Amino acid sequence: MTGAAARGCRDLPVLRERGQREVFCGLTGIIWLHRKMQDAFFLVVGSRTCAHLLQSAAGVMIFAEPRFGTAILEEKDLAGLADAQAELDREVARLLTRRPDIRHLFLVGSCPSEVIKLDLAKAAERLSAAHAPHVRVLNYSGSGIETTFTQGEDACLAAMVPVLPATSARELLLVGALPDVVEDQALALLAALGIGPVRVLPARRSADLPAVGPNTLCVLTQPFLGDTRAALMRRGAPMLAAPFPFGEEGTTLWLRAVAAAFGVPEARFTAVTDAPRARARTAVAAHRATLEGRRLFLFPDSQLEIPLARFLARECGMRPVEVGTPYLHRDILGPDLDLLPPGPVLSEGQDVDRQLERVRAARPDLTVCGLGLANPLEAEGLATKWAIELVFTPVHFYEQAGDLAGLFSRPLRRRALLRPTIGLEAAE
Ligand code: SF4
Repeated sequence: MTGAAARGCRDLPVLRERGQREVFCGLTGIIWLHRKMQDAFFLVVGSRTCAHLLQSAAGVMIFAEPRFGTAILEEKDLAGLADAQAELDREVARLLTRRPDIRHLFLVGSCPSEVIKLDLAKAAERLSAAHAPHVRVLNYSGSGIETTFTQGEDACLAAMVPVLPATSARELLLVGALPDVVEDQALALLAALGIGPVRVLPARRSADLPAVGPNTLCVLTQPFLGDTRAALMRRGAPMLAAPFPFGEEGTTLWLRAVAAAFGVPEARFTAVTDAPRARARTAVAAHRATLEGRRLFLFPDSQLEIPLARFLARECGMRPVEVGTPYLHRDILGPDLDLLPPGPVLSEGQDVDRQLERVRAARPDLTVCGLGLANPLEAEGLATKWAIELVFTPVHFYEQAGDLAGLFSRPLRRRALLRPTIGLEAAE
């Protein structure tokens, strides 16, 4: 494991592309953030396209008690920005009267030019003052011009950091929205290691918002939180560097970095982690036969690509051909790059036509990409995996390692099952 560090991909040249991109916008993050933050509301200031995106992507949840909505700016709002601000104030007042449970209101910016002209930071300040202390209003951009889909979470969390209370207490802060069940597993492991107090950003309820200061040791659970990380560092909080907790190895190294910072003895570390490590190894092994030796091509999408390629190469035996990422943040991804076996092309950004040419030339066994590319590539005979599933499925830490491997082995198994059928049909 340590020997590989010297042979990893950290210093390999990166293919940088700045062309047309094929990814969702940052509004998508609302779909998982609204589930996580139970007394928050996300008000998208946008167009009907934005409303459609949220309703079609989160169609199931909209029938439950929704914690997001869209303030649609109509053509008439173009007539005057003052009118648009007044309309927004009325919309927010109506919402807060109807929903007295809301404690955090996020005004989420989008693409239309009339929204861009609207100063949402000023609006958030004005509305925060008007509805204080009951509701805090913050703003961030989920616009597709500025953000890819996981950057919406980054923008949201980064907007929260400046208003977190100050502390000088020594605490661990987990940074990143995890499904509750996964977060509970992580907290249980850290508690068993004797590490605490542990806080989480984002907290499930606004009353539990973490405080931050020079003794708040932060560790990311998601690799796409570059702006949030920078905002926490501006508050003086030190940052731990570690591989991300995907798979048995990633989880162990992530926990080990935290344990080292808190002086956990090795005997306690192994006593706590041995059993879940063994479970994770067994669960991953069930998928290894399907994945071993298979060639993998990752389009830039979720920013999870590099830690996933590390997991799939080292624990599942896959052979990454190209690993794309929207942004390559070396300070965040360095520990994963160190472990990623050399061989793949590392690409940052996207020029989708050129990348499609490369994937067609490479003919990988599995391509991880966005929804828009998956169908055409499947039609060309390539097996695909939707990148967006990786953020909707619990994939972090030991107990999810098998499910994570399963996300990649399933499309390959399905294809293997389909092939004989296709052959038979052709023969008939
Ligand atoms: S890309 Fe822009 S216009 Fe389209 S849904 Fe996202 S924010 Fe709205």
